[in-house]
Amino acid sequence: MTARVATTEPSRQTIYTEAMEVFQRAADLIGLDRRVRMELEEPDYEHIFYVTVKLHTRLSPLPASEQPRYKDLPDSELLPDGLEPLLDGSFVFKRRALINANVFMRDGVVRLKGKGLYKVVPGRPERFKAYRVQHNQARGPYKGGTRYHQDVSLDLFKVLAAEMTWKTAIADVPFGGGKGGIKVDPKSLSSEELEALTLRYMYRLKPLIGPNLDIPAPDVGTDGAIMGLLLRQFTDGERERHSLRGVVTGKDTRIGGSEGRVRATGQGLAYCIQEWYADRGATPAGARVILQGFGNVGSNAAEILAGMGAKILAVNDYAGTIFNPNGIDVADLMSYVYENPSNMRRTVAGYPKAQQIGKNDLWDVDADILVPAALGGEITGPVAERIKVKLVAEGANGPTTPEGDRVLAKRGIELIPDIIGNAGGVTVSYYEWIQNKRMEHWSEGEVNGRLEQALKSNYRIIRDISRNTPRRTATHNSQRYCIGREVDMRTAAMVLALKRIEAHYQLEGFSQ
Ligand code: NAD
Repeated sequence: MTARVATTEPSRQTIYTEAMEVFQRAADLIGLDRRVRMELEEPDYEHIFYVTVKLHTRLSPLPASEQPRYKDLPDSELLPDGLEPLLDGSFVFKRRALINANVFMRDGVVRLKGKGLYKVVPGRPERFKAYRVQHNQARGPYKGGTRYHQDVSLDLFKVLAAEMTWKTAIADVPFGGGKGGIKVDPKSLSSEELEALTLRYMYRLKPLIGPNLDIPAPDVGTDGAIMGLLLRQFTDGERERHSLRGVVTGKDTRIGGSEGRVRATGQGLAYCIQEWYADRGATPAGARVILQGFGNVGSNAAEILAGMGAKILAVNDYAGTIFNPNGIDVADLMSYVYENPSNMRRTVAGYPKAQQIGKNDLWDVDADILVPAALGGEITGPVAERIKVKLVAEGANGPTTPEGDRVLAKRGIELIPDIIGNAGGVTVSYYEWIQNKRMEHWSEGEVNGRLEQALKSNYRIIRDISRNTPRRTATHNSQRYCIGREVDMRTAAMVLALKRIEAHYQLEGFSQ
């Protein structure tokens, strides 16, 4: 092994330095060029900026301690159309609520018929912290998702942007890595406020991005509708706005999005799992799966795996965990979560055709595959000690901590690492970007055919690196990438990424 070359001052341990451990390990193993290593150790740019929006007036539930003072307050009748319920239990108050209203208010407190006592909180401007980290563009424009979540930080976006640099290289699409978003709980905002926030975010972001410079996509807390707003704000008033459609991916198919993009990440993960079974002369039919996260990635992966004959035994999300030893009907669960107006929180909690269990009980379910498809850092050392599966197939970004990794390896639990497992999203984003450039629209069959071929061949290269079996077959060639010794799958994936990125620096050199 080549000795580690210290290129930076020793620094405090952060989630970024922790996430970069696998980079450092793989860089040591391949003796990565020292200057290339410096280029990759820190992002090219770290943008932090602020976005202000005006929040509407709200009716917030009155604390229990203040309620006795208003026990004689009569009911007020407001037009329900003018009250938008939010997940934190409050209502956004719109002026039309007052049409034909009957209001009794004391000290700004009203009693809503059948709902209880609420305090009026006047509308006010609010400031939100926003980010875009551009990690590396050696292989092409920066590319990566947009996250709206209350727990984001610069360090987290650095981790996620660097992950995109590795992932785009592994997927072999001509992009670099970026990531950004806003520190906000989107569930605490009304749809109009979310729209205003998104437009303002792009107003500030516009000088930094573009279809040949940096291309955002959806991530946690954002979706195709948000991408549509970002597109509008970026292109409005531009003379050649149609040529700019590729500035964001993950759009609705009616405005330049690609068929297959919504399901692409779950689809890609299912292709990797299929390839893992194919290597053992089997298929996922009959495999027992436990799942964390039932959002875009988790729900689509579950549906596709169920379509391949797998059985989904348990699902955990931010509000609950459900378990059915006979298997969960995924289509039925999808409609319970996504087409059910009374399930405003979009959660699996309370699903009537399964047992409700605790989050920690998920890890005890005896199964073949664990699919983490929620947030990072969930599979810690103790969780890895506890789980009873053969394979962890990572749909989320960074779901396993370094300690979790060591425990999985010790216990012989196999891994499909995130940078190949969830690369389906960015691969189809690339197809969307090409279609936008060419003004084309491909069929879902064509998209999935290309995706399957791309992911499975890159997965085979990583497997060959891991086993040190350099091969050239009709579908892949790993001869350039194997390093003369066996390594774990996560390191193997990073070796592939670094070798592909290093080639750009070696062949193009450095500008001065
Ligand atoms: P999403 O917002 O659609 O869904 C997130 C899911 O995670 C929800 O079901 C939510 O309830 C659950 N969750 C949130 N906090 C939780 C907690 N503390 N415990 C358990 N469950 C929790 O997001 P998504 O787009 O499906 O992304 C999920 C993961 O996949 C993220 O790590 C994201 O970075 C990664 N990813 C997404 C894509 C994509 O195309 N959407 C691509 C690559 C990677």
